[in-house]
Amino acid sequence: MSRDDGVYQHYIDGEWTDGTGEETFVSENPANGEELGEFRRGTEADVERAVAAADEAFEEWKELSHIDRAEYLWDIYHELKERHEELGEIVTMECGKEISEGKADVTEAWHMVEWAAGDARHPKGDVVPSEIPSKDAYMRRKPRGVVGCITPWNFPVAIPFWHMAVALVEGNTVVFKPAEQTPWCAQILAEMFEDSGVPDGVFNLVQGFGDAGNAIVEDDRVDTVLFTGSAEVGHKIAGKVGGEPGKLAACEMGGKNGIVITENADLDVAVHSATMSSFKTTGQRCVSSERLIVHEDVYDEFKERFVENARSVAVGDPLDEDTFMGPLIEPEHKEKVSKYNQLAKDEGVNVLVDREELDADEIPEGHEDGHWVGPFVYEADAKADLRCTHEEVFGPHVALLKYSGDIEEAVEIHNDTDYGLAGAIISEDYRQINYYRDNAEVGLAYGNLPCIGAEVQLPFGGVKKSGNGYPSAREVIEAVTERTAWTLNNSKDIQ
Ligand code: NAD
Repeated sequence: MSRDDGVYQHYIDGEWTDGTGEETFVSENPANGEELGEFRRGTEADVERAVAAADEAFEEWKELSHIDRAEYLWDIYHELKERHEELGEIVTMECGKEISEGKADVTEAWHMVEWAAGDARHPKGDVVPSEIPSKDAYMRRKPRGVVGCITPWNFPVAIPFWHMAVALVEGNTVVFKPAEQTPWCAQILAEMFEDSGVPDGVFNLVQGFGDAGNAIVEDDRVDTVLFTGSAEVGHKIAGKVGGEPGKLAACEMGGKNGIVITENADLDVAVHSATMSSFKTTGQRCVSSERLIVHEDVYDEFKERFVENARSVAVGDPLDEDTFMGPLIEPEHKEKVSKYNQLAKDEGVNVLVDREELDADEIPEGHEDGHWVGPFVYEADAKADLRCTHEEVFGPHVALLKYSGDIEEAVEIHNDTDYGLAGAIISEDYRQINYYRDNAEVGLAYGNLPCIGAEVQLPFGGVKKSGNGYPSAREVIEAVTERTAWTLNNSKDIQ
C-alpha cells in the first residue's frame, strides 16, 4: 500500500516504504491552509537505497528496446488522460494555480510522455559520410545510467515528466525528488508508474526537502542530475557537479523576463499578452514577465489599459472557474514578494497599482488562511540600476519601463538583466520582430504572443544565469545519453 498509518510513503525498488527517517511533513492547500496529506521525509539513507535500486535496475532496463521501454510510458499517457480532471484539481489544490492551469499542467505532462514514447520508433543517431567509401561512420546514443530528477512546485506534473519521460525511454533509470510543497502530485505519479508495471528500481520516488535533493547530487552513482528550480539552488548544483569527471548536471532556473511593446504594436495583443504573462499563476512561472518595455508613442494608452486590468483581475479561489489568479505558494514566499514591493517603493518608483493586501471582501469565505496577494504595478526609469527591476521576484510584481528610441534601444533594455530565460515582442513590423528574434538574449522568445507557453517538441531552456543545459522537453536527450562515434571498416584492407 502507498499509505501506511495515514502517512504517505516513498516508492523505492518497486515497494512502498517508510524509509529510515522518523520525520514527516504535511502538504497544505495555499488557498485555505487545509492539510492535504502527511508524507515521510526522505533521508540520505533513503536516497542511497533508491540510487542503489536504480543502479541495479539499469543493467536490465538498458537491454530492452526503446519500443519495449516506451510501452510502460504509453500506459502512463493513458492514465494521465483518464485522470485529467482529478489530477488537475489536485494540482490546483496543492499549488494554488487556478483550475484551467491545474488541468493544463496535466495536459503538458501527457504531451511530453507522448513525445518521448512516440520518439521510441524514430532514428536515434546520425549516419555520416566517411572519407573512405568502404567505411561506415555513424553516431549512436547510449543511456547514461542513473538520472536524478529534482523538480520545483509550480508545474508538479509536467516538469517531472519533462525530466523523466525521455530519460526512461532512452534506457536510464530514475530517482525522483519532487518539491516539498507538492508531494501529493508526486505520490500520484508514483502510483501511475506502479500501475504501469515498470520493473522494480527503474522509477524511484523519495519525498522530502533540499537535503534529500543534495544527497542525489552528491551520490557518485548518479550519472546525470536534472534540476529545475531557483537560480540559487541550481547554481550550487551546477558548481558541485561541474567538478566531477563523467558526471553531468543540466539546470533550468528562473528569469526576469521582459516584453517589448513597440510603437507599431497592436495594443489589444499587447495588453492581453502582458496581462497573461504577468499575472497568470500569480506571476509564479519561470517565464512570467516582470518587465514591460513600452515605446513612448503607445505608452499612455498601454498603461491605462494594463493598469485597469491589474486593478480588476479576479483574485480568489483557484477552484472557481471565474478566478484569474490564485494565492502564492507559501507564507515565506508572500513575505518575499512583499519585501520586493517595499524595495521598489524604497527605490523611488512610481506605484500605479498596489493590491498587495486584498480587501476583505475579495477573499473568498473559508479562505482567510490563504496566502493572498494582488498585482503590484509601477513605473521606473528603464535605464536605472534598480534591484526591483533586475532581480526575479516570482510574483505579480511588474515594472513599466518607457523607451523613446528604436528597436535597438528596446532590446538593449530588455537584455539588461543577468537572466535570459524568456521574452516577447509585440509589434506589427516584421523588421522589428526579426531584430528582436536575432538579438534578444533569451532561450524562449515569443512574437505577438504572451510569454507563457511551452511546446514539448521545441527546446525549453534559458541562457545567462537562467540555465546551463536542457533538463526539459526535446533537448533533454543530450543530458541523458552519451554519444559514440562508430566507424566500421567493411573492406579487407588494413586501414
Ligand atoms: P527551489 O530551487 O527552491 O526548489 C527546487 C527543488 O530543489 C525542490 O525539489 C527542492 O527541494 C530542491 N532543493 C532545494 N535545495 C536543494 C539543494 N541544496 N540540493 C538539491 N536540491 C535542492 O525552487 P522552487 O521554489 O520549487 O521553484 C521556483 C523557482 O523555479 C523559480 O526561481 C522559477 O523561476 C524556477 N523555475 C524554473 C523553470 C524553468 O524551466 N526554467 C520552471 C519552473 C520553475
